Amino acid sequence: MSLLTINNINKAFGGVKAINNVSFELPRGQLLALLGPNGAGKSTCFNMLNGQLKPDSGSIKLEGVELVGRHPRQIWNEGVGRTFQISATFGSLTVLENLQMVLLSRDKKLFRLWTPAASYYKEEALVLLDQVGMADQADRACSVLAYGDVKRVELAMALAHDPKLLLMDEPTAGMAPKERNQLVMLVKKMVIDRNLSVLFTEHSMDVVFEHADRMIVFARGELIADGGAEDIRNDPKVREVYFGS
Ligand code: ADP
Ligand code: MG
Repeated sequence: MSLLTINNINKAFGGVKAINNVSFELPRGQLLALLGPNGAGKSTCFNMLNGQLKPDSGSIKLEGVELVGRHPRQIWNEGVGRTFQISATFGSLTVLENLQMVLLSRDKKLFRLWTPAASYYKEEALVLLDQVGMADQADRACSVLAYGDVKRVELAMALAHDPKLLLMDEPTAGMAPKERNQLVMLVKKMVIDRNLSVLFTEHSMDVVFEHADRMIVFARGELIADGGAEDIRNDPKVREVYFGS
């Protein structure tokens, strides 16, 4: 069984069909890129997957469990994590403290912060930071980190909930090409090491073609292509959308 099974979802805003009868599946351990021009419906799809938006119709199942109609918090608890385009870190806290916060909130122990909480989850936080190559910067404030490093911390924060599926909407926005490549390579490593499934959007075709296991393409709310790099590169509908030919 696929981890994620999306069946005929629809979403309209007024007269705009943002998502039109979209269906796709995502197996475990796959890095799946969602491509498409601005306005294609990518963010709307993400927002339905994490419960921020409810589809007008259709079904979204995680390991057979229906997610449509559930609260975002429940969906999070079912194992759907996400990263945010706007930084989700607390700048005045250190990298380590940010991770400890997430681990405390995961276990609903944030109330303990008034006690000397400095040691809580320190080891677990450091393991996660090590996995994203940030353990050596654990004691630096997030506000002084390089942009790409903040993104690594956010990845570690998302992984702290041990998601089965991780949603990343434009994780590399605002990054230089080298940083982009590094972040996506890191995500790919998490996919392999943790048998994690990741759905992400990314503007750089080079990055996607090099690192994604598979890609799906949206145009005007419809899924127009689904396959590997070669299929997508040569797909006439995709070429029309991207190159007008
Ligand atoms: P993408 O992320 O691929 O750029 P979006 O999912 O953000 O595309 O948008 C898809 C379409 O839905 C666009 O036409 C957009 O204007 C419209 N749309 C998205 N969110 C809303 C909203 N909250 N209210 C009205 N229209 C929206
Ligand atoms: Mg978007």
